Amino acid sequence: MIPGFTYDINPGRILFGAGTLDAIADEIARLGAKRALVLSTPFQRADAVRLAERIGPLAAGVFCEATMHTPVDVTLKALAAFEERGADCVVALGGGSTIGLGKAIALRNDAPQIVIATTYAGSEVTPILGQTENGIKTTVRDPKILPEVVIYDPTLTIGLPVAMSVTSGLNAIAHAVESVYARDRNPISSMMAVEGVRALRDALQVIVKRPDDLPARTEALYGSWLCGSVLGTVGMALHHKLCHTLGGSFDLPHAETHAIVLPHSAAYNASAAAEGLQPLSELFGGSIGAGLHDFARSLGAPLALKDLGLEESQLDVAADLAVRNPYWNPRPVEREAVRSLLQRAWEGARPE
Ligand code: NAD
Repeated sequence: MIPGFTYDINPGRILFGAGTLDAIADEIARLGAKRALVLSTPFQRADAVRLAERIGPLAAGVFCEATMHTPVDVTLKALAAFEERGADCVVALGGGSTIGLGKAIALRNDAPQIVIATTYAGSEVTPILGQTENGIKTTVRDPKILPEVVIYDPTLTIGLPVAMSVTSGLNAIAHAVESVYARDRNPISSMMAVEGVRALRDALQVIVKRPDDLPARTEALYGSWLCGSVLGTVGMALHHKLCHTLGGSFDLPHAETHAIVLPHSAAYNASAAAEGLQPLSELFGGSIGAGLHDFARSLGAPLALKDLGLEESQLDVAADLAVRNPYWNPRPVEREAVRSLLQRAWEGARPE
């Protein structure tokens, strides 16, 4: 029997497909805006400048200082630029870091946001913002944070390096894996999760061989949209808590950490959430933990936390932090079991 559920659907307008970037000026006008501040990281500055040129009179300028973890001082600088240049909306071109900056601006001044997503992290479809101040990362959830329009143009992801495509894709898969055992899941979120993982599983295998394969890039972006959507809809569990701890306290890189921890967190929950995980296990040969490990290995993904620079001596502290204020999880979060999980993830061992 289908259990009862409550489903809060996030509003938003999605433009999907090769060439959808052509609609950018129309989308700005459609929002009733006249001056868009284009955001990017320093790395994507040239793309942002080209985009601003393309938008022409609707562009208020470019702010290219987006950085990981959305530091509040960068947000305040961007807000000052927004006001000085008389902007009335933001266009974020990039991955989670740039999208985070757009969200941080919108949280403070309710500016409408258009996101042009160029990684698979999924932030563009969530009302969630993680921001850092004085070394402390806090998470805010607010309807103002959710971007109004998302443009998914897969031609913009052709240049995403293979290694980043793989880790970013596994980051997206992690959202879906945790969603199928979320307490507040519903039949639609689970359906989206399974289809999202299937799409990414198929697409990533092609992308590692042919990074410029447009159908595969399109399918990967489709998968990342679905996986991001479930991240924005239902609660996350032990896997996300572990990654937030490792990223926040040990400065480990976001997507790589997700990629390494995922097989181990999935194995941790495999028995307790067997029913929810079953369709995903089938996509990876029957065993979710070992299957995800073998999949990640076949893609050339990083497998061991020690390769990210984490010291073995830091694992005890990491376990202590990860079990403090735990997120709800289908299997009880026990300190010794989490410490063993971290040991295996540190070594890059194949989950049993
Ligand atoms: P990122 O945005 O930090 O991008 C990494 C680098 O790749 C940047 O230099 C970027 O400019 C570059 N890049 C992006 N797309 C490219 C492309 N197509 N071609 C070439 N280079 C490209 O990486 P990310 O993994 O997308 O985002 C990570 C951040 O997003 C973290 O801070 C994480 O906490 C946050 N995040 C937030 C949510 C949420 O819902 N709030 C969800 C997922 C991730």
